[in-house]
Amino acid sequence: MTRIMFPHGHRQAGADGGPRRSGLKMRLIIAAVIVLFTLVSYYGRPGDENQITGESQRVAFHEEADEVQLGLQAVRQMAVQFGGADPDPGAQARVKRVGEELLEALDESLEPGGRSNPYRDDFNFTLLADTKTVNAFALPGGQVFITRALYDDLETEGQLAGVLGHEVGHVIERHGNERMAQHQLFQGLAAAGGVAGGDPQSAKMAQAVAQLAQMKYGRDDELESDQWGVRLTAMAGYDPRSMIGVMEVLDRASQGQSPPEFFSTHPKPANRVEYIKQLIAKEFPNGVPGGLKR
Ligand SMILES: [Zn+2]
Repeated sequence: MTRIMFPHGHRQAGADGGPRRSGLKMRLIIAAVIVLFTLVSYYGRPGDENQITGESQRVAFHEEADEVQLGLQAVRQMAVQFGGADPDPGAQARVKRVGEELLEALDESLEPGGRSNPYRDDFNFTLLADTKTVNAFALPGGQVFITRALYDDLETEGQLAGVLGHEVGHVIERHGNERMAQHQLFQGLAAAGGVAGGDPQSAKMAQAVAQLAQMKYGRDDELESDQWGVRLTAMAGYDPRSMIGVMEVLDRASQGQSPPEFFSTHPKPANRVEYIKQLIAKEFPNGVPGGLKR
């Protein structure tokens, strides 16, 4: 990881405007150097090929093993924040079983193409004891969590598969890793903007723009993960329409507390329903087959 330090808010005072002018020139040169350095760090090597999707990606950590380590470092902190592992062995085992079913289905789908899941042995599905916070999340490298509050709200096992499938999507698409690379890119450009502007106000503006750009990517990640939620549930033998039920559950849970959509990294569940319906129609042009688990 690269970090850029720059003299924040450093100003050259000048009564006659001379030194001030050379100060501006200096700031622009420094800003240009930072921009160049940042762009070379981000674009200076070819993208990494995603071992599962085959897509080219810009990531901060190139080795999957490093991603796994990074995720493992954050596990304890995340678990503690949501009440630790749930003590109910039956529910805990169910979460792990459904997660495993999704991974097996993924393996089967990758095999014919000669691909494999590089995170296969590091995936871990944990039910957290928090009964108040409706949430599920994944850390880079395969640590997947669902809170008891969300688990208890779900009506079917297919919905549980949908939630876990969405989180598996974040892991295999390396979303966290991509966001870290972008964070470095935007921070670098924002730093350059701040230096060029030379006052705290432009530094703040540049920061705000950087954050907005990252939020946009956050929403795209969610939609991409919804796609995996639909795909993996169906591949594991569950009715993919379970994902619509998941959105309805989330919508009820967030009633009246949802932040304005544009500034939220998670699109409104109600708006995701239409998108998920389209996904299902695309994956199953002849209709969803019968006999799937609910
Ligand atoms: Zn998500």
